[in-house]
Amino acid sequence: MIHFVGAGPGAADLITVRGQKLLEAADVIIYAGSLVNPALLDAAKKGCEIYNSAYMTLDEVLTVMYAAEEHGKMTVRLHTGDPSIYGAIREQMDALDAKGIAYDVCPGVSSFFGAAAALHLEYTLPEVSQSIILTRAAGRTEMPEKETIKSFAAHHATMVLFLSAGLLPQAVSDLIAGGYSEDTPAAIVYRATWPDEKKIRCTVGTLEAAAKEAGITKTALILVGDVIAPSDYALSKLYDPDFATEYRDKK
Ligand code: SAH
Repeated sequence: MIHFVGAGPGAADLITVRGQKLLEAADVIIYAGSLVNPALLDAAKKGCEIYNSAYMTLDEVLTVMYAAEEHGKMTVRLHTGDPSIYGAIREQMDALDAKGIAYDVCPGVSSFFGAAAALHLEYTLPEVSQSIILTRAAGRTEMPEKETIKSFAAHHATMVLFLSAGLLPQAVSDLIAGGYSEDTPAAIVYRATWPDEKKIRCTVGTLEAAAKEAGITKTALILVGDVIAPSDYALSKLYDPDFATEYRDKK
């Protein structure tokens, strides 16, 4: 059996309880060494085989998984954050399906939650924004035609850009071309939840200079939207005394 496990955003104690138990029981661990905290590997039992997928191709990863299956071993494939976001797990699951190998997925805390925690943000503020657009700038991976930053910017929703810290000049001009004003609140969170985390509040217009000044080119999230520095917002209906809910009468 193969378990895809979300390692969380960085801090070793932000893996789920289930993920931790799977790590402790694994005979083989393949971890995404570029972003997964190596301290998580301390949980591995004695004799566990450990592979860093940063140095491996898809075929090499699959070869390790197939060999483990042949020997009746349990494998944990440890991905950063949550495996469903830019995790390249579909291609692994499809290959396992083709071989009839069983697997499951244990979710993880995505880095965009780590970034909100770092900045004390609520991404969904009533009357400011009720949606979060998770996307990326086009890099070596092209963006589908209908999913450009420019087109998403038109919504003025909260935006989280993954994999984009090294592509800021283009991303910023697309944000502005799409309708965000230069003074729209923005932030950069580098290595959220790691000991060397950096968080910078700025605006869309100052994003590039802020990243440059802090020397941030990777492992960062770019956040954009009024929820980062709201001038005003509505209180939630859920806790409004004039509003009855299934659990509480009006006060
Ligand atoms: N599956 C991961 C994302 C993998 S893509 C998740 O759910 O978080 C890799 C990108 O995620 C990086 O380029 C960066 O934009 C972001 N990222 C991952 N960990 C991060 C962290 N601790 N702090 C800030 N950004 C992070």
